[in-house]
Amino acid sequence: MKKHNFSAGPCILPEEVLKKASEAVVNFNNDDLSLIEISHRSKPFVEVIEKGRTLALEHLNLLDKGYKALFLQGGASTQFLMTAYNFLNKKAAYLNTGTWSSKAIKEAKLFGDLVEVASSEDKNFTYIPKGYTVPNDVDYFHCTSNNTIYGTQMNEFPETNVPLICDMSSDIFSRQLDFSKFDLIYAGAQKNMGPAGATLVVIKEELLDRICREVPSMLNYKIHVERDSMFNTPSVFAVYVSMLTLDWLKNLGGISFIEEVNKKKAQLLYDEIDRNPLFEGIVAKEDRSIMNATFTIANEDLKTRFDSMWAEARINGINGHRSIGGYRASMYNALPLYSVQALVDVMKELERKA
Ligand SMILES: *Cc1c(COP(=O)(O)O)cnc(C)c1O
Repeated sequence: MKKHNFSAGPCILPEEVLKKASEAVVNFNNDDLSLIEISHRSKPFVEVIEKGRTLALEHLNLLDKGYKALFLQGGASTQFLMTAYNFLNKKAAYLNTGTWSSKAIKEAKLFGDLVEVASSEDKNFTYIPKGYTVPNDVDYFHCTSNNTIYGTQMNEFPETNVPLICDMSSDIFSRQLDFSKFDLIYAGAQKNMGPAGATLVVIKEELLDRICREVPSMLNYKIHVERDSMFNTPSVFAVYVSMLTLDWLKNLGGISFIEEVNKKKAQLLYDEIDRNPLFEGIVAKEDRSIMNATFTIANEDLKTRFDSMWAEARINGINGHRSIGGYRASMYNALPLYSVQALVDVMKELERKA
C-alpha cells in the first residue's frame, strides 16, 4: 500500500493519474508508441496540451474571458524574472511574505525599481501583512498566495487598478478565488498539478500590450501565446500528467469540491495541533495555510520518539523546511483525508505514551 505522502513538492499525485501516466510511457493511446517518443507536434500530443490548457482555464473560471494558459519550463523560479523582464518598466510593487517572494524580489531588482509594500520578515514570515496600500504609479503588484515553507496563505488580495501578478505555485486549484482579478498567475506544476518540469502561466491577453522592452524569445510571453505554448518542445511528460490531474479534478467536481475536502483535512490537523499539548502551530492562526501546516514539538526527546512513530505509521515527508525546522505537513489536493487522520492518530498516541 502507498505511504501517506505529505511531501511539500514534488508531492503526492492521484494514484489513477500515476497509473495512466505510467501506461502512456509504454504505450500511448494504444498506438504502440510511447508518449515520450512521439513528436510534440503530432496530433495526439497537441490534443493533450490543448486539453490541459482548456482544463486549467475552465477550473479557474477563465475560459473565454480573455485569458491564455501556457505550459512553460524553468519552474516558478523562471517566472520570477520573466514577469519582471516583460512588465517591469520603471517601478513595481511587491509583497514580501517569505523565501519565494524574496527570491522574486531579488530577480525583479535586475530590471527596475521596487517598492516593498509590506513584509513579514520581522516575525520570520509567520503572518501575512495587512492594511498596506499598493501605489497607483507602479507597473504591477506581485504577491505569493501561499507560502509553502512557512505555511501561511493570503485570504485577501488588494483592490488595485494596477496589474495583479501572483505566484500560486502551492495553492492553485485548491480553493475558489475570483481569478479574474488577476492579470497573470503562475505555478510550478509539482505542488498541486503534476510532476516537476512544467510551469503553468495564465495570462490576461490585454497584459501582452504592456511588454515594455525587447525580450528574448524564450522569455517573451507574447511569443509563447502566439505559438500556443509550442515555441519550443514543451516538457511533454509533465504536461501530460498535469492534464490528467486537471481532468481527475474535474471528474471529482472541480475546485469547489476539492476546497471542501482541503478545508476538512486542514481543520482535522490544526484542531489536533491546538488541542495536543505536545505540539504548537508556528504561524498566526488567521493566516494558516490549508495546504502546508507547520508546527513544532515540545522537546527534543519527544522528537526522536515522534519521528520513529510516524515513520512506522508509513508517513512520509513531514520534516519542516531546513530554514525553519519543526514539522510541515503538506496536504495537497491528492492527499486523502485518511492520511491526515493517520498523522493525527500518531500525534494522539505520542501524547498517551509521553
Ligand atoms: C516551490 C515554489 C517555487 C519554486 O518553484 P520551482 O518550480 O522550483 O522554481 C516558487 N514559489 C512557490 C510559492 C513555491 O512553492
